[in-house]
Amino acid sequence: MKVGILALQGDFLEHSELLRELGVETVYVKKQDDLRDVDAIIIPGGESTTIGNLIEVRGLGEPIRELARSGTPIMGTCAGAILLARKVVDRVVGETGQYTLGLMDMGVVRNAFGRQKNSFIARVNVEGIGEVSGVFIRAPAIVEAWGATRLIGYLDHPTLGRIGVAARQDNMLSLAFHPEISGDRKVYEYFLGMIKR
Ligand code: GLN
Repeated sequence: MKVGILALQGDFLEHSELLRELGVETVYVKKQDDLRDVDAIIIPGGESTTIGNLIEVRGLGEPIRELARSGTPIMGTCAGAILLARKVVDRVVGETGQYTLGLMDMGVVRNAFGRQKNSFIARVNVEGIGEVSGVFIRAPAIVEAWGATRLIGYLDHPTLGRIGVAARQDNMLSLAFHPEISGDRKVYEYFLGMIKR
């Protein structure tokens, strides 16, 4: 089993380290050729505009979409979740018009919890995974889901109330937080379970 981790910008290293601890082979995906033979893909956190631009420049969008359509499991964390969404707005600037893969039927709000200084760690209950420790760094919220996407995890936020932070659509999983920073193995075990053996 080999997991491809999109390594254009962001914290791809942490995902890779965690998977290797679990005995899983990983490959950094920087160009089309790196996607050959991958059984699953992770799109890490970072800056979604930058990662999106680089996906476009390197011609990785269509190959990733094709793998997604053919059932390859994909997990997007934080910026990665933004890149999987069909609809993106920013809490402050509104429409971002940014590039996304547009694979999941969901709308996200970028920087929904505020700026860098509003980062926090919280326990989140995710259906099918259980309680996980989530690191939220200028995280998005998943505010709507339609069609094939289902919200599977919520955060009870002191000011925003109950808000979506995890979603699943067939072979795809979006998390608004960083499991690779908290090192929560349960998330990876669940994701690896999505790979048909
Ligand atoms: N705020 C970033 C964005 O909108 C995401 C931050 C992150 O991945 N930690 O792209």
